[in-house]
Amino acid sequence: MEVDAVVVGSGPNGLVAANLLADAGWETLVIEATPKPGGAVRTEELTAPGFRNDVYSAFYPLGAASPVLAGLGLEEHGLRWRHAPAVLAHVLPDDRYVLQSRDLERTARSVAEFDERDADNLRAEHASWRRLREPLLDAIVRPFPPVRSGARLFKTLGTAESLRLARMLTLTARGLGKEKFDGAGARLLLAGNAMHTDLGPDQAGSGVFGWLLTMLGQDVGFPVPEGGAGRLTDALVNRLTAKGGEIVCGTPVTEVTLSGGRAVGVRDADGRTVRARRAVLADVPAPVLYRDLVGAEHLPARLVSDLDRFVWDDATIKVDWALSSPIPWSAAEVGQAGTVHIGADLDGLAGIANDLACGRVPHDPFLLLGQMTTADPTRSPAGTESAWAYTHVPRGESWPDSRLRRHADRMEEVIERHAPGFRDLIAGRAIAGPAQLQKGNHSLVEGSINAGTAAIQQQLFFRPVPGLGRADTPIDRLFLASASAHPGGAVHGAPGSNAARAALARDGWAGSVYRATVRAAHRAVYR
Ligand SMILES: Cc1cc2nc3c(=O)[nH]c(=O)nc-3n(C[C@H](O)[C@H](O)[C@H](O)COP(=O)(O)OP(=O)(O)OC[C@H]3O[C@@H](n4cnc5c(N)ncnc54)[C@H](O)[C@@H]3O)c2cc1C
Repeated sequence: MEVDAVVVGSGPNGLVAANLLADAGWETLVIEATPKPGGAVRTEELTAPGFRNDVYSAFYPLGAASPVLAGLGLEEHGLRWRHAPAVLAHVLPDDRYVLQSRDLERTARSVAEFDERDADNLRAEHASWRRLREPLLDAIVRPFPPVRSGARLFKTLGTAESLRLARMLTLTARGLGKEKFDGAGARLLLAGNAMHTDLGPDQAGSGVFGWLLTMLGQDVGFPVPEGGAGRLTDALVNRLTAKGGEIVCGTPVTEVTLSGGRAVGVRDADGRTVRARRAVLADVPAPVLYRDLVGAEHLPARLVSDLDRFVWDDATIKVDWALSSPIPWSAAEVGQAGTVHIGADLDGLAGIANDLACGRVPHDPFLLLGQMTTADPTRSPAGTESAWAYTHVPRGESWPDSRLRRHADRMEEVIERHAPGFRDLIAGRAIAGPAQLQKGNHSLVEGSINAGTAAIQQQLFFRPVPGLGRADTPIDRLFLASASAHPGGAVHGAPGSNAARAALARDGWAGSVYRATVRAAHRAVYR
C-alpha cells in the first residue's frame, strides 16, 4: 500500500495532523495500535449500562480556546460543548471551598470569602489576561519559535511588561499566588489547576500553568463534549474521512522504515508495510518514536544520550463510578462544579508533590474529580451521576488488583469525608491503574498521561530533548506529532498541527531550503 502520509497513532494530535494533511489534498492514512481511534479522548460504558464514562480525558478548556481546533470547524462535524453550572471547586480539608464560575463576579465573591481584596485582584488579573489572551494563545499553539504571534504579544505588552511576563513563566504556583492574591482561595485556584500537570505548587514553572487554566476557566470554562469525550474524536474522524482520509485500528506500528536517511513508510506488528511518499508523522511519545520505531543506530548519538535524561510525568490511577444520585457534598454548592479538586490545601498539595518526587505513594491522595452528568446530562440516566477521579502515584510501582482496589478505596474515603453517604451511591465502578491505562492507549507509558513532564527543563526548545522545539526530527520527512512535542500535553491539537505544517513545508516549493536549514540546525544541536 502507498499513500502520501502515514500518521502513527490516532490521538487528538494524530487526528488533527491527518485532517490538516487531508485538507492539503494529501492521501493520508492513520494507523492506530488499539481497536478504537481517539487515544486519550474516548468514551465507553465502563461502569453500568446507560453510564457513559470518559475513559481518559474529560474537560477541555484548552480545546475550547485552541485556535487549532477552532480552525477545523468541528461543530459542523457533530461537536457540541456543554458546561456545568460552575467551572470548578477546590474543597479544603475543613470543607471550606473556593468556587470558580464563568461569571466573573461569582468567582470574585468566592475568592473574597477568603480575603476581600481578592475580588479586585481577580478582576484586575482577568482584565490583563483579556488583553494578552489572543496573541498568547496563538504563541502557545504555533510552531516554535512563534515569531509573528510573539511579535504581536510584544507589541501588546511593550518591553517592560514582556520582561515581567517572561519572569512569570518561571514562578512557582505558590509564588505567583502570593504575588497576585492575598487569600487562600484564589491562591488555591492557581495551585490546584497547576496540578493538572505533574507540577506541584513549589516547582518552577507551575505558576503559569495554574494561571493559564484559571484564566481559561474564567473565559471559556472547562467544557465537555455533549455525549462524551469520544464525540470530539468522532468529529475529528468524521471530518477526516469526509476529506478522503482513512484510519485503520488494531495495528501497532513497530518500525518507521528508512531509506537514504529519510522516512519512507512504516511496518506493522504483522510485518506489513505501508509506503509514505511524502511524510511519516508520529503521534507517539518521543522515546517510543526514537528508540522503538526508528532505532538508536539511525540517530545522532547526542540525541540518543539526551533521551536518557527524558523525564516522564507521574503515573496515574483513575476510577470511574456509576452513582445512583449526585454526590452529597457537605458544601452543597460544590455539586454545581464540573471539576472538583479535593484532598489537600496548598501545603497539602506541596506534600503530595514531595511524596511523588521521593517515590512515595501519597497516603491521602489528591483527586481531580469530574461530575460528568452535572456537566452534560446525556452522560447517565436522569437523577444519577457519572463521575470519575484520578490521582497520581510514582512511576515504576507494581499495582496488582488487590493493591489497586485498596488505593481506589482510599480515593473513595477522601470523597466520603466531604460527602458523607457517597459510598452508598456506588452502583458500579471501574479502576484503571498504570498498566490498564497503557493497555488501552499505548502512549500512556507506565501510566504517564502527558508524554513527558511539564517541568521547565522539558519545555519550549527543551521539549522533548534539547533541540529546536519543533516537530522536525533528524530523519528527513519524519515528524513528531504527539504531546511529547512543544507545547505539550492536553487536548488542543497544537503538536499535531505543528507536525502537519512542518511536513507541508518540507514538501512545498521551498522544501529543499527548509530541509537544508533544519539539517544545519540539527547538526549544530546534536554535534
Ligand atoms: C486519565 C487522563 C486524563 C486526562 N485529562 C485531561 C483533560 O481533562 N483535559 C485535557 O485537555 N487533557 C487531559 N489529558 C491529557 C490528554 O488526553 C493528552 O495530553 C492528549 O490526549 C495527548 O494527545 P496525543 O494525540 O498526543 O496522544 P494520545 O491521546 O495518547 O494518543 C496517542 C495514540 O497513539 C497510539 N499509539 C501509540 N503507539 C502506537 C504505535 N506503535 N502504533 C500505532 N499507534 C500507536 C495510542 O494507542 C494512542 O491511541 C488526560 C489524559 C489522561 C490519560
